[in-house]
Amino acid sequence: MVRMHIYVTFGEGPACEICANAHGRVFLSSRVGKKNFSPLNGTCNGKVHCQACLIGLYGGWLEAREIVARIEKASKKTIVRLSPEELRTLVRGQWKRSLSADTDRISVNMLAALCEEQHNAGIAIEGYWCVINQAKEPRHFPLVVPAYLRLLSVLVRVGREEEEVRQVIEQFERRFPSDQHAPYSPSSYHRQMLEEVKALLWKRQSLQVSA
Ligand SMILES: [Zn+2]
Repeated sequence: MVRMHIYVTFGEGPACEICANAHGRVFLSSRVGKKNFSPLNGTCNGKVHCQACLIGLYGGWLEAREIVARIEKASKKTIVRLSPEELRTLVRGQWKRSLSADTDRISVNMLAALCEEQHNAGIAIEGYWCVINQAKEPRHFPLVVPAYLRLLSVLVRVGREEEEVRQVIEQFERRFPSDQHAPYSPSSYHRQMLEEVKALLWKRQSLQVSA
């Protein structure tokens, strides 16, 4: 069971203003389930569509319960939005010891990975692997492709072994063959991002050979 949803934008470049303003917004599940629900005020006007996901949580631990109480108390028209610090406080809470640990494991790992990317690459890498390897419920499926792509981005940025990056790419391509279009399979934009990582690897490799 999920009580609230958190909207998180992410990616390499900055998001458009509309999407950036929605980063950190929290909604009760009852609201997300309504017809015409949108986490955005308006429509995304980024040159390339901004990357974002809506992460559902039961939220049984202290920091999460406080947020649920805050949205419940807020008037219907008010949109509660968490700052980056508040998001990090949430994921650094004792969620593993709460009753919702199993329900929330995949979601918290995704959220933690997205929030910690710039602060602690190790947590981000671990979090994305958790989503990739353990997402079994349909509500987690939309997180898998973004988790792969964010993982690749972090691995490349922190200069992990090329072999490791290559293995992630191979695993991704086996899991999502380009001739298959299941729900939540990569979009053409996702595939383009993957091609960019591959091109970068090629470039690095050829530099090494010529050095
Ligand atoms: Zn946007």
